[in-house]
Amino acid sequence: MSADVIDGKAFAAALKVGVAGQVNILKEKYGLIPGLAVVLVGEDPASQVYVRNKNKSTKEAGMNSYEHRMEPSVSEAELLSLVAELNHDPAVHGILVQLPLPKHINEAAVIDAIAPEKDVDGFHVINSGLLATGGRGMVPCTPLGCVMMLKDRLGDMSGLNAVIVGRSNIVGKPMAQLLLNENCTVTMAHSRTRELDAVVRRADIVVAAVGVPELVKGNWIKPGATVIDVGINRVEKEDEQGVKKTRLVGDVEYDKAVQNAGAITPVPGGVGPMTIAVLLKNTVTAACRQTGVEEPEI
Ligand code: NAD
Repeated sequence: MSADVIDGKAFAAALKVGVAGQVNILKEKYGLIPGLAVVLVGEDPASQVYVRNKNKSTKEAGMNSYEHRMEPSVSEAELLSLVAELNHDPAVHGILVQLPLPKHINEAAVIDAIAPEKDVDGFHVINSGLLATGGRGMVPCTPLGCVMMLKDRLGDMSGLNAVIVGRSNIVGKPMAQLLLNENCTVTMAHSRTRELDAVVRRADIVVAAVGVPELVKGNWIKPGATVIDVGINRVEKEDEQGVKKTRLVGDVEYDKAVQNAGAITPVPGGVGPMTIAVLLKNTVTAACRQTGVEEPEI
């Protein structure tokens, strides 16, 4: 039997409509327009595309978007000074510094300089601490989007075995915290895990966030399991004419996994579109908290 395909594009589109509705209410009731500032340093092509999409989606949701572009040679002090300015700007409720930053800038120092309540990426150490201890902080967008899709699919996840492959600070670790909060029995696998196949075979929920094309094999997936593939990998393949083409693949061997899983996110069109939609949602949440306004329901 073939798995249900979880349509991240449709899910994200619905969430964006919901966020636009929230923004409308905030404008009409309180004259509040949530504002997101995005800082891009340098000319990395992938980062430019992400920033352009964030800017466009923010405006489409009726929010203010402030884009700040800096030369790749900018000093850490200059970037920190821009962050400080944005921290104090009342029109800016969310600040996102696009990663990666050039090598001469200390990423951790920049993230830590963002006011935690404006850290809509949820990467600040205060926000990771709040997530780990069950407090109310900002939650990283990609894992939050994954949990939204999982909840929609599975409802109550209490007691389910969840295996997360990858332990990065931006995906794997917050994902584990979120699934613990949902009362899953969580296992984190990583590059030193022994017998990864046996670990994955036990999972009712598999989240792959590794960055290695098709690392998680289709025959490791327990029949009926729910598979969330966070990986975005560009691979080159030759077509029948011998012409090299790049295509996107995930961290899961999709063609085989789809035969075992109960539900699976595709790449592209799964987790990816959710990340920006959740960023918009986080910006609304941040704006409401900073102004003491109750966040409208979606
Ligand atoms: P990362 O490089 O920071 O972390 C990768 C993790 O994978 C590490 O914890 C490492 O221990 C683990 N790992 C590496 N090789 C392994 C192996 N052979 N077996 C088991 N574990 C192994 O990566 P990241 O930032 O978490 O991103 C992971 C993937 O998710 C990438 O493909 C990235 O492009 C993608 N991503 C997608 C989105 C999105 O919006 N869809 C957002 C963030 C990241």
